[in-house]
Amino acid sequence: MRIVITGGAGFVGSHLCDRLLDRGDSVVCVDDLSSGRRANIAHLEHRPSFELIVADASAGLAVAGRVDAVAHLASPASPVDYHSRPIETLRVNSLGTQHALELSGGHGARFVLASTSEVYGDPLVHPQDEGYFGNVNPVGPRSVYDEAKRFAEALTAAYARTRGVDAGIVRIFNTYGPRMRAADGRVVSSFIAQALTGRPLTVYGDGSQTRSFCFVGDLVDGLVRMLDSSDPGPVNLGNPTEMTVVELAIMVQRLVGTALPIEFHELPGDDPLQRRPDIARASQRLGWAPRIDVESGLAATVAWFRSQPDEVEAAAALLAGNQADGVRRQLLSTAAVAAP
Ligand code: UDP
Repeated sequence: MRIVITGGAGFVGSHLCDRLLDRGDSVVCVDDLSSGRRANIAHLEHRPSFELIVADASAGLAVAGRVDAVAHLASPASPVDYHSRPIETLRVNSLGTQHALELSGGHGARFVLASTSEVYGDPLVHPQDEGYFGNVNPVGPRSVYDEAKRFAEALTAAYARTRGVDAGIVRIFNTYGPRMRAADGRVVSSFIAQALTGRPLTVYGDGSQTRSFCFVGDLVDGLVRMLDSSDPGPVNLGNPTEMTVVELAIMVQRLVGTALPIEFHELPGDDPLQRRPDIARASQRLGWAPRIDVESGLAATVAWFRSQPDEVEAAAALLAGNQADGVRRQLLSTAAVAAP
């Protein structure tokens, strides 16, 4: 197959490029390198079946030649990124999604939209299954991302219904792994960067909010299954193992081998209190389930961050500068926190 991946130089997109090339597909990676990085795909650029187009999907998708599938991943995805580029986030999920759907429609190609668990907002149903419509504040600080993705889902469903596009939607839950940007402000990258550089781990709120973290290799497996299927979705892709943010901090400390203070900061606006995917649908329709437990996945991620000491140091310094409002510091050891 010849597959167009928008956002192919990003954290998830670059792993998808790797996986598809490894199984013999050709990949056209379209990325404006705003949050994606050339370094993520530098090892692919010599491969004849790989092509990079540096372009913003919001402005159009000019791809010559055959197209068998389009995976639309282009979008800022971490809160720091979408808050710093709110209009661009809305544009790439609206205009960019439309361009990607038009490209698919024109070639009779499969289309997969990378949507997000953020469409569930601060969920009133737990765990979240695909039948839940969400609890989203349309004008809240996260709305530039979650409403943009909700629009992208609506547009995808409309193209499937009225234009016959073979489209599928996946809702991606928190994902981590090698190639995350150390300075992307996400909890996993921030905690690892802080722990590796001997800085306090910054927990927002009281750290009792939960997330469920999926290793990027597992997620990519789900994305490939969705590309290969004709399922319309939406299908949740995530690891149902749920943990609190404080439990994550302690696990990172243990893996890095430090016991640094935990510093409590104000909880950002509209930060969801809990999140865990119900993955029954992914199991039934795609035969998918994550395989990597969070401890092994985090260990691989810590190893990768260790191999980037300059970036990690710069990121940790930047985070410390941005978060100079720390209110409370506390030394938490594994023993101090009850097991989940
Ligand atoms: N978080 C935190 N410290 C950090 C960064 C994030 O405690 O340095 C919290 C954040 O408030 C949220 C959770 O960790 O409750 C996950 O945040 P992330 O930005 O990684 O993902 P999202 O909120 O989009 O699920």
